[in-house]
Amino acid sequence: MPTQSILLKNATFTTLHPPRLQLGDVRIAGGKILQIGTDLNAEPREEVVDLHAKLLLPGFVCAHTHLYSSLARGMPPATSPPLNFLEILQKIWWRLDQALDEESIYYSALIGAIEAVQCGTTTLVDHHASPNCIDGSLDILQEALEKVGLRGVLCYEVTDRGGPEKRRAGLAENERFLKKQNSELVRGLVGAHASFTLEDETLAACADLAARWNTGIHIHV
Ligand SMILES: [Zn+2]
Repeated sequence: MPTQSILLKNATFTTLHPPRLQLGDVRIAGGKILQIGTDLNAEPREEVVDLHAKLLLPGFVCAHTHLYSSLARGMPPATSPPLNFLEILQKIWWRLDQALDEESIYYSALIGAIEAVQCGTTTLVDHHASPNCIDGSLDILQEALEKVGLRGVLCYEVTDRGGPEKRRAGLAENERFLKKQNSELVRGLVGAHASFTLEDETLAACADLAARWNTGIHIHV
């Protein structure tokens, strides 16, 4: 059964190659642009949306985010002001990520995904950390993204900051998720925090994991 098409009338739409703005109509179906033009006629039973010259853009791609940071709004301030980047992590972000459990991961991702769509972002790359809820955390993010209909590339942040057991759990979560790959919208990557929290052997383990699953590494530089 063919997918129902939608006719977007009176759009101000952009084309990027070459970049330009034009007024016209766009017909879409099944996630694809079927036709662009002016004064396109509606087909029988087709949904028609009049955009009244509103701007129609290609979806944005966010190449790096932390969905759990959507819970940072309203968070109590650090007891003393951070003096450098490491203290910003220690006093703010690592306090937050250590507090995450299954429920807060899910709702942080749901909030972040909804806000992404509201801003025109249709794909994002998320670098996730929840040191006290590692196993299965990427599945929870996937569930939230799929509920919103957002595309995502997800990875768990491997780090040595919590010791060898947490490092192994981070590597295992990436591998479990890469092995699973059961979504049309969501894929996996290998996540690694940053050079100052990663031992050489951990970086090598990340590289080995990425090579074995023929994927890339997402890391802060
Ligand atoms: Zn980051």
